[in-house]
Formats: sequence, structure tokens, C-alpha cells
Amino acid sequence: MSLKIIVLAKQVPDTRNVGPDAMTPEGTVNRAVLPAVFNPEDLNALEQALRLKDANPGSTITMITMGLPKAAEVLKEGIFRGADKGVLLTDRVLGGADTLATSYTLAQGIRKLGDFDIILCGRQAIDGDTAQVGPQVAEKLGLTQITYTEEILECTKEKIVARRHIDGGVETVEGPMPIVVTVNGSAAPCRSRNAKRVMKYKKAATTLEIAAASEEVQAFYAQRPYLQLTVWNAADLEADPAQIGKTGSPTNVKSVKNIVFKAKENKSLTGSDADIEELIVELIQNNTIG
Ligand SMILES: Cc1cc2nc3c(=O)[nH]c(=O)nc-3n(C[C@H](O)[C@H](O)[C@H](O)COP(=O)(O)OP(=O)(O)OC[C@H]3O[C@@H](n4cnc5c(N)ncnc54)[C@H](O)[C@@H]3O)c2cc1C
Repeated sequence: MSLKIIVLAKQVPDTRNVGPDAMTPEGTVNRAVLPAVFNPEDLNALEQALRLKDANPGSTITMITMGLPKAAEVLKEGIFRGADKGVLLTDRVLGGADTLATSYTLAQGIRKLGDFDIILCGRQAIDGDTAQVGPQVAEKLGLTQITYTEEILECTKEKIVARRHIDGGVETVEGPMPIVVTVNGSAAPCRSRNAKRVMKYKKAATTLEIAAASEEVQAFYAQRPYLQLTVWNAADLEADPAQIGKTGSPTNVKSVKNIVFKAKENKSLTGSDADIEELIVELIQNNTIG
């Protein structure tokens, strides 16, 4: 059995390096000033995809990302780790998308790709932090979804069995294929780059980059189609202009503030009954509990 697997991966600003100019005055992320990384949970999703591919020879993994042309870096990274193909959805009119417009655009990309068995994505992106895109993609494509997945235990052409990590425990669920699966950060970490694949694909480039290059470079890529990363714009996606980018986004982020927690005072407790009783009384008196 071979599977057609899609992995959705987002290039995100590294939120460990957020400075004062991290947001634009319009409330969108100022991606130009922040170092960009592969969204961590998308790497967990990629690992689940790679395990399915290992267990089912002949399977293919296609990665899709929506973002600036630079977002193609996550496609290359995924290919270095074992994915087969990459598709970049990019267009000025896709900019400023909220989760509704993002999931619509990704769903259009998936529709254009056509045949697939399973769509894997991270549970949540570390910039928007909403965890809405996976479920919305499933909804738009009319597919069943399994969220908070930690491990895919079984997968056939008909059904999938997965273990979910939920508040207070784990649960094992079953769903019909094709399906959307969102993967948690507690799932297995992604394997490292494969040195042979890095050598083979290090010159992988988007069709946008290739079109802008010299005739000599274009000839080089024409002979090596496996190095070409597909690029689709809004027209290629046959996207409804009212549902993409800022126009298709009912959400507006008004402002983002840095909050620094400062301790005004501290108290050392010995763990004795008297200390604990004193603490409880204090917490009740200042209405923290009770
Ligand atoms: C501070 C801040 C607050 C925001 N608040 C909201 C809000 O309240 N409501 C709202 O609708 N939007 C909000 N946004 C916008 C939101 O970040 C974008 O819509 C974003 O494109 C998708 O949402 P997310 O990052 O929350 O993704 P999530 O839903 O957290 O992402 C889940 C998974 O979907 C996949 N995925 C998500 N985006 C892409 C992509 N571009 N390409 C490929 N795969 C992808 C990845 O696998 C990812 O792990 C906010 C943005 C910021 C910066």
C-alpha cells in the first residue's frame, strides 16, 4: 500500500527573538526583521509522515507552505529530511491572512494537488498560536480530523488509528481516510537531515527563482526537474478574491504588547503545617482563593 501524504508546514518568526519592531503598525507580524524557523510542531508532523512513508514503500510526501517566497526554505528543509516535493503558495494578495483565509488558501492548494490520503500538520504555529488552521482545512475539505495526535498507531487506505494527547491523559481514536491529522509537540521529534539528500537537493529552487535566473541556470534546472519547487499564486489556485489575504480575513490584531512579569516580594515557606496554614489564610484574605 502506498500513501499520498501532504504535510502543511509554516515558516514562523522565531518567537525567542521578538523585539519592539516585531509587529507592523497594522498588527501583522513584521517578518522582515525576525529570524525565520520551521514551525516546531510541523516538524513533529513531518516525522509522522516520514514514519508512514517508511512503513509503506512507494508513498510520497508533498509539503505545502503559504508565505513569502522565503518560506520555500521550509520546503527545502523538509526535502532534506525525507519529503519528496514542495509547493509554495505565494502572492501579494495572500498577505495578511487570518486563519480563515489561510485555511481557505491551503485547502485550494490541496484541491489543486488532487489525490491524497492523509494531510498532516502541526497542532499550532508559534506566531499566531491559534491551532485553528488544521481543523479549518479539514472543515473546508469536508474531511474528518484527529487533533492533538501524538502517534499514528495504524494506517490503511480505509482507516487510521491514532493516539491523542489530551488534558488529563491519552485516548486512542479511529477515523476514516482521507483525513486531516494535527500533531502535538509531545510527538516524536523529527529526524535530522539526511546527508545524501542534502547533497542531492541543496540546489533545489522555486520556479520563481529559476525564472529570474540566467538562461544558463534555467537550462541547468530544466534538466533536473526534481530540483524544482512548485509555486502557485492566487490565480493558479483559482482562489476567490473575497476569501484570501486581508480582504478574506475578518480578524484584525489591534495591538501586541510585551508583558514582563516582575516579582514585587517573595516569601519562603518551610513546608511546616503552620506555614501552609498561614499561606492559605493569606490567599483567602486577598481573594486569590476561596
Ligand atoms: C499575535 C497574533 C495573533 C493572531 N491572532 C489571530 C486570531 O485571533 N485569529 C486569527 O484568525 N488569526 C490570528 N492571527 C493570524 C494568524 O497567525 C495567521 O492567520 C496564520 O496564517 C495562521 O494562523 P496560526 O499561525 O494561528 O496557525 P495555527 O492554526 O496555529 O497553525 C496550525 C498548523 O496549520 C499549518 N499552517 C498554519 N499556517 C500555515 C501556512 N501559512 N502554511 C502552511 N501551513 C500552515 C501548520 O501545520 C501549523 O502548525 C494572529 C497573528 C498574530 C501574529
